[in-house]
Amino acid sequence: EPAGALLSVNNIEVIYDHVILVLKGVSLEVPQGGIVALLGANGAGKSTTLKSISNLLRAERGEVTKGSVHFDGTRIDGLTPDALVRMGVIQVMEGRHCFEHLTVEENLLTGAYTRKEGRQAIADDLELVYHYFPRLKERRTSLAGYTSGGEQQMCAIGRALMSRPKIILLDEPSMGLAPQLVEQIFEIVKQLNEKEGVSFLLAEQNTNVALRYAHFGYILENGRIVLDGAADALRNNEDVKEFYLGLS
Ligand code: ATP
Repeated sequence: EPAGALLSVNNIEVIYDHVILVLKGVSLEVPQGGIVALLGANGAGKSTTLKSISNLLRAERGEVTKGSVHFDGTRIDGLTPDALVRMGVIQVMEGRHCFEHLTVEENLLTGAYTRKEGRQAIADDLELVYHYFPRLKERRTSLAGYTSGGEQQMCAIGRALMSRPKIILLDEPSMGLAPQLVEQIFEIVKQLNEKEGVSFLLAEQNTNVALRYAHFGYILENGRIVLDGAADALRNNEDVKEFYLGLS
């Protein structure tokens, strides 16, 4: 794989239930320090691509049948999700998935399960999460199930941060959120990228907002990348405008 890529996905094919071919040779790269958007309509294969990187397909009877994934110079396809988290690769699943019966703070602490440092380091990281998400600090003792959709999305990202990730695979962060909240979440993603050096691969149907925050984008249709480019170039591309941005 080319030097410089933090994450590189090479020609992967994914099959569900032994017969349903969903990814038909997907290749993409996330450079060190990059924010890369994976765009496409509902069902194009965005979630499948993220799960094939974080190795979360098995629970859904999915299997990578071809291709490879490299992270930081190491081949990682086939490693357990747990090993990947320890290496710094973590996914924030679509739909937020907080533990509803735990408080916000307890949820965040579950994200530190792979950490070997002492309490102080974890306490410091909790403060770091609260620095980026002051709203979570206000809600720290609330049961996650009683917090708003935006707060749960923040909680899911905050929990991922507690593992000290190098890259976050963020699935559909805008889903179900009001535009102003979507903007807030993306603003924090940008801050985490710039100030903490976290790289992001984010799957989004909201092409407009994703291309305003990402540096680079890939467009997936029917399990294939049909277009890629710098975010600005994609935003000005006539096909992208017509089919994904709703303007022409
Ligand atoms: P969404 O925004 O709806 O999540 P997506 O682009 O992320 O869309 P995927 O969820 O990756 O798309 O799904 C891609 C295709 O794979 C769809 O046609 C979907 O029906 C199919 N698919 C997803 N999961 C399974 C599964 N467990 N078994 C069979 N087919 C599946």
